Amino acid sequence: MTATARIIDGKRRADQLRRDIAIGVERLRDESGVVPKLAAILVGDDPASAIYVRRKGEQAAAVGMQSESHRLSATISQDELLALIDRLNHDGTVHGILVQLPLPPHIDKAAVLRRVDPRKDVDGFHPVNVGLLASDGEAVDGRIIPCTPMGCMMLLADELGSLEGLNAVVVGCSNIVGRPMAQLLLQARCTVSIAHIHTRDLPELVARADILVSAAGAPGLIRGSWIKPGAVVVDVGINRVPGDNGNGSRIVGDVCFDEAKARAAAITPVPGGVGPMTIACLLENTLRAAIAMKSDRDGEAAVGKEPASQLVRI
Ligand code: NAD
Repeated sequence: MTATARIIDGKRRADQLRRDIAIGVERLRDESGVVPKLAAILVGDDPASAIYVRRKGEQAAAVGMQSESHRLSATISQDELLALIDRLNHDGTVHGILVQLPLPPHIDKAAVLRRVDPRKDVDGFHPVNVGLLASDGEAVDGRIIPCTPMGCMMLLADELGSLEGLNAVVVGCSNIVGRPMAQLLLQARCTVSIAHIHTRDLPELVARADILVSAAGAPGLIRGSWIKPGAVVVDVGINRVPGDNGNGSRIVGDVCFDEAKARAAAITPVPGGVGPMTIACLLENTLRAAIAMKSDRDGEAAVGKEPASQLVRI
């Protein structure tokens, strides 16, 4: 009989995380009157971005948070956008600010992301948070971790417990997924390799991975025969390919799922794996930010001391 991998149920894990966050929100409100608020900024009318922003607002409401969305014309000037960010930075009722990407080409993305107060940067893209993530030791206490890698680490921790000493390979080195993912795996004491488009022998590298995280955005990139038997595979890729789900397309990951599940010990499906974790982690970051700001206000040195949902320890 061929072995078959455990399917990691990201949807169920995200449901559990949201329940924990809802408890954290209720406790914060009862103890201090603070209700976490997420402010989303959407520039232009990209339909996919509009759907993401709407879902974030709906899920925030479902865990008892407040949310507001700022929809701006694609022709808005950079100065106007920065002025809105300044206003949200100074608004004491707002705890999380996210700028939905992509931005129109006339806007300098880096300048916009730099303008968000790092304490409200719930995407974890501000250079201060990037730097804290790359630091070892006590400096990591105040950091905000990018949502998708945070979700991947929760799934890996559930699956493996300690990751210490394992070989981890991350395919992709973007600021959003690959780089922060590699930093988190390093902090979990893995031996980490990062592959990218210029990597010369990807199959050879993948074959050494006890943990494989693929975030390349390349459908079918990772063949099952490359995977080390018993590896844990986390597929971050979301790729639309021709298919039969009603509108002539379907969503697949980077990994050839049917091949890989015959070799891996456990694997995330696409959809239903990493995807559902991302928004749940955004809410976790918003709750953490609200708790940290309340502690700052009260003069407590508690930034990041207490995982917001009590269960998230990464
Ligand atoms: P990106 O395009 O910014 O980065 C892709 C990275 O993969 C680059 O570093 C590139 O060098 C590498 N790469 C591309 N093709 C490769 C190949 N053939 N071999 C080796 N490396 C290769 O993309 P991103 O924003 O990091 O997103 C990556 C994927 O993850 C996309 O499919 C995206 O839709 C998905 N994604 C999913 C979530 C989620 O919540 N599940 C969140 C963010 C991104």
